[in-house]
Amino acid sequence: MNDDNSRALYDRALSVMPGGVNSAVRAAIEPYPFFVQKGDGGHVIDVDGNRYIDWVMGLGPLLLGHDLPDPVQASIQQKASEGPMYGTPTEIEVDLAEFVVRHVPSVEKIRFVNSGTEATVSAIRLARGYTGRNKILINQGGYHGAQESTLVEGDAENPRPSSAGIPQSFSEHTIPVAFNDEDAVREAFEEHGDDIAAVLTEPILANYGIVHPEDGYHEFLREITDEHGSLLIFDEVITGFRVGGLGCAQTEFGVTPDLTTFGKIIGGGFPVGAIGGRAEIVEQFAPSGPVFQAGTFSGHPVTMAAGLETLQFAAEHNVYDHVDELGDRLRDGLSEIVADQAPEYTVAGTASMYKVIFTRDGKAPKNGADVKNAETDRWRRVFWGQMKEQGIFLSQNQFECQFVSDDHTDEDVDRTLEAYKEAL
Ligand code: PMP
Repeated sequence: MNDDNSRALYDRALSVMPGGVNSAVRAAIEPYPFFVQKGDGGHVIDVDGNRYIDWVMGLGPLLLGHDLPDPVQASIQQKASEGPMYGTPTEIEVDLAEFVVRHVPSVEKIRFVNSGTEATVSAIRLARGYTGRNKILINQGGYHGAQESTLVEGDAENPRPSSAGIPQSFSEHTIPVAFNDEDAVREAFEEHGDDIAAVLTEPILANYGIVHPEDGYHEFLREITDEHGSLLIFDEVITGFRVGGLGCAQTEFGVTPDLTTFGKIIGGGFPVGAIGGRAEIVEQFAPSGPVFQAGTFSGHPVTMAAGLETLQFAAEHNVYDHVDELGDRLRDGLSEIVADQAPEYTVAGTASMYKVIFTRDGKAPKNGADVKNAETDRWRRVFWGQMKEQGIFLSQNQFECQFVSDDHTDEDVDRTLEAYKEAL
């Protein structure tokens, strides 16, 4: 594969940008990432003219793929041409807020921000402000963006920052426990129950392999948080408007969180985040309440238009049937290939999310540690080498999941399964 132009761009990028990229994971492809020229349906074409079937889809936002349907395109173009933003409210913010409130039963009010990270930062501040408590319980292997309260590793006894630049004292307010481990949560509540502001969890871990909750886990979190007067926050930045359709993963699991963080799909491919939930809690945000929260770009008209039109299109065009069906085909096909060629591996995912995890025993991982123990270094050889060479763009490392879009076709699935067969 010729990649001269990508290499030249990466050289230029390295001299002006740290690691040559604007988000760490993008540099994970060695020796350098390919630079994209443009998207085309379910594919991307790089600056050297190579075409890839794209299962990364912007790391999640592009439910409809790269070819946005006419109403979505038109609405984005119109908002951009009217003068992109104003610093004072517009109708489209209200329209998108009403749409979300109508479709996600736990959301009575919502505030829009500009990234998933900003959503979780604000949700944590809101939970602390509402409860008057300090501590946040999170799951090891969960990801909630590049922020101080959740870039924490270790365990309940010894939490420590997982990044340079974060004071140890910040991470002392965070309690990391294993996903699916009810006893660890019980112990944390026994010890700190009256100072836990919230449990923050992804309904399905989607940034560390894909790890599914065991039956009853989320119900258990709902009960124990209720018992102790803590909030339950679902981080649906990835699962929101993907798993469980327009009702999100929470309706699929039948568990109602107090707060939900959104991102990705809700902005239709433009920078976005949101915090939604019970009115009495969300009302604590300034200016109606004492929890300060603000943003120059929040509720940006172009983003709101892209998000609203994307969700409306999904509601009216059986998008979820299509992407979930292709997701099933991918998972079934991969399961057969893995059973035949590498029975120690595991195929994980649901709806339009999927991932092959290089487990050593063929058992679905229960938590982040199980994924960490997988043969994660195989990723380099199998995927950067073989899959990319066959024109298949998979997420950049073993941990990030992969997504089906409305633009993908049966042929994309067939070609991808053939490539996996070859690579594995
Ligand atoms: N929460 C989850 C569950 C995520 O997957 C991500 C990003 N992958 C974030 C938060 C952070 O979102 P952003 O990258 O938009 O800041």
